[in-house]
Amino acid sequence: ATPMSVIVGVGKAAEYGALIRQGDALQTAGKLDLVILDKTGTITEGHPAVTHVHALGSDDSRLLALAGGLERHSEHPLAEAIVNRADDDNIALEKVTDFEALNGKGVQGQLDGQTLRLGNRRWLEGEGVDLASLDEAAESITRDAGTPLFLALDDKALGVIGVADAIKPDSEAAIRRLHDAGLRVMMVTGDVRATAEAIARKTNIDDIRAEVLPEDKADIVEEMRRKGYRVAMVGDGINDAPALAAADVGFAIGTGTDVAIESAAITLMRGSLHGVADAIEISRATVRNIH
Ligand code: ADP
Ligand code: MG
Repeated sequence: ATPMSVIVGVGKAAEYGALIRQGDALQTAGKLDLVILDKTGTITEGHPAVTHVHALGSDDSRLLALAGGLERHSEHPLAEAIVNRADDDNIALEKVTDFEALNGKGVQGQLDGQTLRLGNRRWLEGEGVDLASLDEAAESITRDAGTPLFLALDDKALGVIGVADAIKPDSEAAIRRLHDAGLRVMMVTGDVRATAEAIARKTNIDDIRAEVLPEDKADIVEEMRRKGYRVAMVGDGINDAPALAAADVGFAIGTGTDVAIESAAITLMRGSLHGVADAIEISRATVRNIH
């Protein structure tokens, strides 16, 4: 039979907005010693906005018309930021055909028989685009914890757009509670290291894994479990679902995607990282009551 104290604990957690969907998660939560956090939508709000536009040899409106022409076909949060900015500035989006989204890389399409690409440095450089003339602009974007998105037509760099996502106001305090409870805190992100470092500095995160492809997040969870950690994974995206399922306890952000919620043992209805610390504290109190 389920001990009374577990029922009480599950109820208590629900009062804090932590819905426990898998029965044993409440008992396991108190034994966790590593929390792996997704960045976008988990540590940050998940509603990025354009902060920098830097065009080479054309104007900023032209850059946004081209970038927006690609991103209007994408559902990525970065895409929304770019399309919203173009809308706000009353910029008519360019017509791009043969749209394709490439996981962890960016988006591409055809324009007048040429390939237009918007995405990260690693991908564009791999496609033979020289981005050296955008180094300085990109550094000022990452210094502000933003993500630089490079635009190129065939192998010609056209410019860089900086998109930044605000850190949730309570992420830093929640991470402090996790540290006080004796846990290590790691961030995994598809973003570049410089951006991840800027966010880690502001929130006191211990370790970073950057430029992680979506399909590799679960491998990191498994690697840390093999090293002996009891691992919590916290995420909101479709990308995070396998990692949430691989963790000792998966926590899905309640405003996140259904796939993430279904893959996680606990749903954080308030969308705050405090819910992780709450669940751990309630678990420890519950387990004390059982013994
Ligand atoms: P995360 O959600 O962890 O930031 P993603 O795997 O969704 O990671 O994206 C990783 C990187 O791939 C982004 O930081 C960006 O550089 C690039 N990228 C992904 N989707 C897009 C997009 N729609 N437009 C531009 N760049 C993108
Ligand atoms: Mg996310």
